[in-house]
Amino acid sequence: MTDPTPTASITTAGRVILVGAGPGDPGLITVAGLSALQRADAVVFDALANPVLLDAAPPEAERIDVGKRAKRHKLTQDETNQLLVDLAKQGQRVVRLKGGDPYLFGRGAEEAAFCAKHGVACEVIPGVTAGLAAPATAGIPVTHRKVASTVTIITGHEDPTKGETSIDYAALAGLIKAGGTACFYMGVGRLQAICDELTGHGLPDTMPAALVQWGTLPKQRHVTGTLASIQAKVDAAGLGSPAIIVVGEVAAIDEPGLDFFTARPLFGQRIVVTRTRQQASDLRTRLEELGAEVLEAPAIQIVEPDTQARQAFDAAINAAGDYDAVVFTSTNAVNAVADKLDALGRDSRALAGLHVSCIGAATAQALHARLNITADLVPARSTAEAFVDEFLLATDLVGKRILLPRADIARPMLPAKLHDAGCVVDEVIAYETILTKGLPTAAIDSLRTGEVDWVTFTSSSTADNLVELLGDEAALLSDCKLASIGPQTSATMRDRGLTVAVEADQHDIVGLVKALVEQHAPQ
Ligand code: SAH
Repeated sequence: MTDPTPTASITTAGRVILVGAGPGDPGLITVAGLSALQRADAVVFDALANPVLLDAAPPEAERIDVGKRAKRHKLTQDETNQLLVDLAKQGQRVVRLKGGDPYLFGRGAEEAAFCAKHGVACEVIPGVTAGLAAPATAGIPVTHRKVASTVTIITGHEDPTKGETSIDYAALAGLIKAGGTACFYMGVGRLQAICDELTGHGLPDTMPAALVQWGTLPKQRHVTGTLASIQAKVDAAGLGSPAIIVVGEVAAIDEPGLDFFTARPLFGQRIVVTRTRQQASDLRTRLEELGAEVLEAPAIQIVEPDTQARQAFDAAINAAGDYDAVVFTSTNAVNAVADKLDALGRDSRALAGLHVSCIGAATAQALHARLNITADLVPARSTAEAFVDEFLLATDLVGKRILLPRADIARPMLPAKLHDAGCVVDEVIAYETILTKGLPTAAIDSLRTGEVDWVTFTSSSTADNLVELLGDEAALLSDCKLASIGPQTSATMRDRGLTVAVEADQHDIVGLVKALVEQHAPQ
C-alpha cells in the first residue's frame, strides 16, 4: 500500500486539505472550505462535522466516516492518518472535514505532519470554532468592552495519558478575575471539577458561568448560572455533550438583541416536510431561517411518464409553435417542459409567440429561472378556479389551442372549464408523481420517538402518500401538529383520518410558513 520512505519532495498530484466544517450550522463553513468540498474526490469526515455538508461534495466522491464519539472510535488516529496518505497517493483530492477549526483540539496538526512526512501535500482551511460560535448563538459575546477583554480557549478534557493536568488553573482564575472569559471544550464530564478548581484558585462562586450544547444548531440548548449553580442547572436541564462551558462576567450579560438566535419564531421546532426532494429546499430554507429544524420526508417523487405519454409530450413540445397559449400549473410542469426542451435540443424560443400563464408566483419564478420567460398572466389567487376566470377575462383565447402540460394525476377541473369556455385544450402528461421507497431514517425515527412538532402537507398527494408510506405507523401522525397548504389538501388529510391543526390562508409556501409562524407568535 504505502511507501514508508519519508520524502521531502511532493510527488503525487493528490493532496489533503484539512477543512474546518464550522461549529454545526452548515452555513458556517467558509467559502474556501465549501469550494474545496465541491471539488473533492474523497471526503474523510468526523462526527462533529455536519453531515449535511457532505451533499456539497460531488456525488461520485467517496465519503468516509472516521467519526469518534466518546470511546466508540471508528478508526484510530493512526489509521486515519494512514488513510489520508493512502488516498492522496492514489492521486485523489482528499478533503479532511473536521468540526469547527481543524487546529483547535482537532488533531489537525498531527494529520498535517503525517502527510508531510509521507510526501503528501497538505493544506489547511480554517473554520469557525465552536468555543466562539456557540456562546454567540446563546446570546453571550465572548468579549465585551465593559467586562471582558481576553478569551482563553481551553480543553476541559486533559489527555488521560498525561497523568496530570497541564492547565495552570491559578493563572486561569487570575485572568478571569481580571476581566476575562474562559471557553472550555470537551468539559461536560468535568464541569463540577472545573468549577471547583476555579473557586479553589480564588474565583468567587458567584462568578457567572454558562453551558451551551449543540451551539448554532436548531437543537441548541443552554443554561446560565454561576460556578456554584451551573452543574445543578445542567443536570436539571439534562444537557450533555457536545457543549462549550463559558466562565466569566460575559455569561451574565443580558442586553436586548443578544438573544436573536433563540428569539426566532420557529426556534426549537422540529418540522417534517413532505414535498418531493426537488421541491423541498425552498420550504426548508424558509423554515430554517426562522429557527426550525427541518427533516425531509419526501413522500412523493417526480419521474418521467410512461413511453406512450412521453411520446405524446415530445410531439406536443416539437409542435409547440402550433399552439396559441401554454398554461403552467406548477413548478414541476415548468421543470418538465424545460427538461424536455433540453432533451429535444430546443430552447425557450420554441414557445415564442405563445401566450404564457402560470398558476402561482412560484411557478412564474421557476419559468423565469429555467427558461427566461416572463409569464403574461399570473392570477392573484393560486387555484384552478380563479385562474380560469381571470384567464378568460384577460385574454381573447376562446376557440384557440391551449397546451396544458400536467401531472398524470391532475384534477380534470381546469381543462374541463377551459373546454366549456370554448378553448381547444391539449392536455399532455409531462411528469408522474410516484410514491418514494420508504422514508429517510431521520424523519421516521423522530416520528417514532415523538420528537416531531409539525408535519407540513403541500398537496393532496403528499398526504395520501405519507399515510401510505407510514402504513401501520400512520397513527404516529396524531402525535404531531399537521399543517396544510390549502382547503383541497386539508380535505384529503381529513379523508385520511388526519387532524388539520392549521391551514394556510395563502395557498403557497410563503402562506404555509406564515401560518406556522402565527401559531408560534407570542399571545
Ligand atoms: N475543532 C473543534 C473542536 C473539536 S473538540 C472546534 O474548533 O470547534 C470537540 C468539542 O468541541 C466538543 O466536546 C465540544 O466541547 C465542542 N463543540 C463542537 N461542536 C459544538 C457545538 N455545536 N456546540 C457546543 N460545543 C461544540
